[in-house]
Amino acid sequence: MTFKSTRTSFIIIISLVVLLRVFSGISLMWLLLPGAAFLLALIYGSANIQANFFAPALCCANSTEKQIALSFDDGPNQEYTPQVLSTLAQYGALATFFVIGKNIQGNEGILQRIDAEGHSIGNHTYTHSFFIDFKSVRGFKNELTQTTACIFKVIGKRVKLFRPPYGVTTPHLVKASQALNYTIVGWNIRSFDTIANSAQTIVQRVQSQIKPGAIILFHDTSDKTIQALKQTLDFAKHNGYKVVTVEQLLKINAYE
Ligand SMILES: [Zn+2]
Repeated sequence: MTFKSTRTSFIIIISLVVLLRVFSGISLMWLLLPGAAFLLALIYGSANIQANFFAPALCCANSTEKQIALSFDDGPNQEYTPQVLSTLAQYGALATFFVIGKNIQGNEGILQRIDAEGHSIGNHTYTHSFFIDFKSVRGFKNELTQTTACIFKVIGKRVKLFRPPYGVTTPHLVKASQALNYTIVGWNIRSFDTIANSAQTIVQRVQSQIKPGAIILFHDTSDKTIQALKQTLDFAKHNGYKVVTVEQLLKINAYE
């Protein structure tokens, strides 16, 4: 189910209702049902990055190789990103950090460390504002360009990977990212670490879903995530999973 196929079905159904109205005199109230269904499809498609509704997002690797990718959104964070990096180093694991542009100032050293230790960096917009999904194409282009410029200033690399805030895709966001040649990266395991009550809840949710090719969403913004990360890395190690960057997992380039 994509936006285009849903829109086509909607137009066909609406036309049928109108024809039936003309020839059989049915009530126009019949328009409400397809209208509501179309609206629900739009909401579902926007909110679920894995649905690939508006645009293809890479959410996992189609592979039987025992590899998984951990991703950390919303940094760089002065307190937690260094702890995530040290934990990853202890296990010889790599990860991908989708950073917020406005968080870079003052945390340039952390961004350099992420890069120097072999992890990948991606774009997670400049403001990550709560109302970001109401932005125009130009607004999204500014968010993306500004963040990529901030990252480039620090590590000298132009990022290509883009993760939409909250995993929400809109037609404007997709148009902007396609015009600027970004690759949209989602996930297929959401840890819900920002709302979980404890590290244990996060660990259970993640471990029960781990499979070859998985991309896991974490946030480098809390203690719970650090605890859950250690246990997830232990689990991966004991079960023979290699922990790699999104770029390695999907065999794509993170930079231009
Ligand atoms: Zn985010």
